[in-house]
Amino acid sequence: VATPPASPITPAAASSSELPAASFSPRVRQLLAQMTLEEKIGQMTQLANTAINPTGVQKDVALDSAKLAALVREFHIGSFLNGEAVPAAQWVRYSATLQRISMRESRLHIPIIYGIDHMHGASYVSGTAIFPHNINLGSTFNPELARQTARATILESADLGHHWVFAPVLDLGVNVYWPRFYETYGEDPLVVATLGAAFVKELQTNQEIAPYKVAGCGKHFLGYSDPRNGWDRTNALIPDQRLQEFFRPSFQAAIDSGLKSIMINSGEINGEPVHASKAILTDLLRRQMGFKGVAVTDWEDIIRLVRIQKVAANEKEATWMAIDAGVDMAMTPYTTNFCRIVKELVQEGRLTQARIDLSAGRVLQMKDEIGLFENPMPRADRLTRVGDPALRAQAVSAAREGVVLLKNDQNTLPLAPSRVKRLLVVGPSADSRANLCGGWTLAWQGRPEEAYPKDVPTLVEALRREYPQATVETLPYRDAKGKSLMSSISAAARRADAVVLALGERPYTEGMGNTSDLTLPDDQQALARAAQASGKPTVLVLIGGRPSIIRQVAEATPAIIWAGLPGYGGGVALAEIISGKTNPSGKLPFTYPQFAGHTTNYHHDNNENSLDLSDFGAGFEQRGPKYKSSMLTEFGEGLSYTTYTYSGLALSDSVLTGPTARLRATVRVANAGARAGQEAVLWFLTDEVGRIARPVRQLRHFEKQALAAGQSREFTFDIDPRRDLSYPDGQGRPQLEAGWYTLRVGSQAVRFRYAGGPLAQAGTAAPGST
Ligand code: BGC
Repeated sequence: VATPPASPITPAAASSSELPAASFSPRVRQLLAQMTLEEKIGQMTQLANTAINPTGVQKDVALDSAKLAALVREFHIGSFLNGEAVPAAQWVRYSATLQRISMRESRLHIPIIYGIDHMHGASYVSGTAIFPHNINLGSTFNPELARQTARATILESADLGHHWVFAPVLDLGVNVYWPRFYETYGEDPLVVATLGAAFVKELQTNQEIAPYKVAGCGKHFLGYSDPRNGWDRTNALIPDQRLQEFFRPSFQAAIDSGLKSIMINSGEINGEPVHASKAILTDLLRRQMGFKGVAVTDWEDIIRLVRIQKVAANEKEATWMAIDAGVDMAMTPYTTNFCRIVKELVQEGRLTQARIDLSAGRVLQMKDEIGLFENPMPRADRLTRVGDPALRAQAVSAAREGVVLLKNDQNTLPLAPSRVKRLLVVGPSADSRANLCGGWTLAWQGRPEEAYPKDVPTLVEALRREYPQATVETLPYRDAKGKSLMSSISAAARRADAVVLALGERPYTEGMGNTSDLTLPDDQQALARAAQASGKPTVLVLIGGRPSIIRQVAEATPAIIWAGLPGYGGGVALAEIISGKTNPSGKLPFTYPQFAGHTTNYHHDNNENSLDLSDFGAGFEQRGPKYKSSMLTEFGEGLSYTTYTYSGLALSDSVLTGPTARLRATVRVANAGARAGQEAVLWFLTDEVGRIARPVRQLRHFEKQALAAGQSREFTFDIDPRRDLSYPDGQGRPQLEAGWYTLRVGSQAVRFRYAGGPLAQAGTAAPGST
């Protein structure tokens, strides 16, 4: 018998307390009383769609009815997942067959719940609106757009039998190398928590889809996004205090918003696989954070404990470890062996019946809460929502707000259509829909170019519409054999009035995007140099899931746009920003590195960079960093075609006398330019002296508003000591320290003092989890 590894998370005082009591509905209690052990274990099992779909890759949604019936009869399987994008009508047929057979074969007529990765819109249904990926939504600093994304997702998929949406990703985007970086809302805990909670609330409480309801799945709990390198599912080293302060708030906010399920991090923290961690899955998640929903494993992660992580000698030990740690449902256990093994573990007394009841009960409770027993069938009569142009229009608006203008020397942008007769657009993303959308679009790794709808304009197509009087030309920069065509590019650039470089990468998801090098590929650098050599105004557009290192070409490029993965609206949004029709308002939700070795986040980026090395005497300057800062652009930065001025930062008082006292900060923000825009006002706090080294600054409040040319508005931030000044210790107990704090907003800064006492230690809620 393998012993579970020692806990990386120091058990909190709270671990001695009881688990939050399971509050199951009368229906669930009644079902549990009637169900056999095998039937309960079936509820804990989720199989891949390929188990019942003979085509494997879902070219058409076919179903092997006999196989399905056997699986439900013999193993009482409670859930299936996944697929690829097919037309809605096909999904309806598939889901209807699946549900009909499942309910017929299940002795107590328990419906199955179907899980699916609709990650940025209903991305597994053809013809739906594809919204920007989360990293772009983070750039909008606008939770309303996260809400709209959730709404579109369920309006276009809820009637198809897709009751369980594996979103939102609540991971913190702290490592730009990580291939799933684009799935995060960025590096800041407050941004991730705010947008994630807005998504969850809409997804789970929207009334327009009634009587249909959907369960969300916050993933991947916890600390998945901080690998030591650019490879997916690798070990993370995260101290307890950091886990509490940075990685917990987004999940806490979603749980406090009613999140019905979480998916577990496939990796390890400090050497302990999270799937085997009772400290994380029970002490932290259930006892400290109060989660009552379903904890589902990620893909085949029980068997990974044996094959990859090697903390269990065989599948049986791994299964015991995972369930003992707190897993409720196994996603794609290696085979239906899982069902047999769990039964043995119960018969041998290693897992109690009560433990099985708890997990099966949580799954049934989720099914009950979303009304699956009353409305198990998809609704072919309501497919009118699929392909709704209004949703497509919202995806375009979200794309407009999520693009960040990083550099604009000599007002190179906008390129007024009246000044442009000939425009050259080159690069791998110039005429690509796939590159605008990235992974998790139509299929796991995206699809070949031809699979995307033709009415979604690529960047060059959108520019042709935006510049109807001009010749907008695009050329390949490599031939079919990969040979460079740089001389024809150079010639075309010389002929053009301006050049748009549409750089980027092919879609990738998870391990397929592993990288050890973020440097802009040589051929794309050559392309940039060819454009620069023409002497024509050049706009570099960075399309892709993570920042490339562009230092080599950035200095000589007057205008740089970070486009991320803007989805179907990307072409239009970028063309409008280039022409000036749209005034950019995005701000970076992460720190854009200047150097490959720079993976520090804004909270901690001070120290050497802020030292004046000449203080050390002659000679030290040369040894210091060549660039004053290691970032190309900081978190929260982004330019616009107008100018905002911040003035009159004031506080209602200079001292906070205790945890319940409040300070109101106000600042006036004026649009001093000639065009309307939207400004995200970001409030940062610094704890000047802390018992442990505190972040150099932390975002504590943000709000985005439209400002007409010449208009000014007052913005406020009500400072709550418990929420905004405290930080958790390694056990999640909030620490509130007397002393000075600095508040910064725009160009303004002010200091104030907290003169009260510490917080009473009753609760262990993480700050920021309002
Ligand atoms: C991913 C999850 C996803 C699951 C189901 C896993 O490989 O890590 O994010 O929800 O597959 O497709």
